[in-house]
Amino acid sequence: MGLLDKKFEKGGVVITSVENVFNWARLSSLWPMGFGLACCAIEMMATNASSYDLERFGIFPRSSPRQSDLMIVAGTVTFKMADRVRRLYEQMPEPRYVLSMGSCSNCGGPYWEHGYHVVKGVDRVIPVDVYVPGCPPRPEALIGGLMKIQELIRVEKFAGSRTEAIEQISLKPSDPETVIKEISASAKNMSLSES
Ligand code: SF4
Repeated sequence: MGLLDKKFEKGGVVITSVENVFNWARLSSLWPMGFGLACCAIEMMATNASSYDLERFGIFPRSSPRQSDLMIVAGTVTFKMADRVRRLYEQMPEPRYVLSMGSCSNCGGPYWEHGYHVVKGVDRVIPVDVYVPGCPPRPEALIGGLMKIQELIRVEKFAGSRTEAIEQISLKPSDPETVIKEISASAKNMSLSES
């Protein structure tokens, strides 16, 4: 905020596209549906609690699919539940996003071979945008996945497809060293343009 305060303390004009404003508003107010399927959901609840404080990203759970734009599939998807997961997904308004959290939801997890009752990946029932690996993933990993969803929304075009946006973010380097270098370089550019 310090940078923004300095830039606008004497008034000013911001020029951007409507698309950027819409995307910025959407990525800054992601509302996941409050539901969980198994142990991964405990980690998801911990991520929402005070230590990790998802609300600082504008992310807080809603209790109705009709008010949600993100579904976090946290836990084992059994054949019995798959039908309900699909129904909840269909009740969410567009544009909607799906994050698959943990091995069970990604591919069947520990049940992949002998679990006759488990769907081997929730992407067999609904389309998934971001996968978070782990059994269970730690809150930091879930936050990383949520930031990927935000990145996806940031690059989405009104006239473009979701697949194009996913391809675009998958081409970006994601190793921490490169990301830190990129952030430092852009911070340096900002302070140079300020002076
Ligand atoms: S991935 Fe592991 S922690 Fe998550 S629901 Fe499956 S068994 Fe539980």
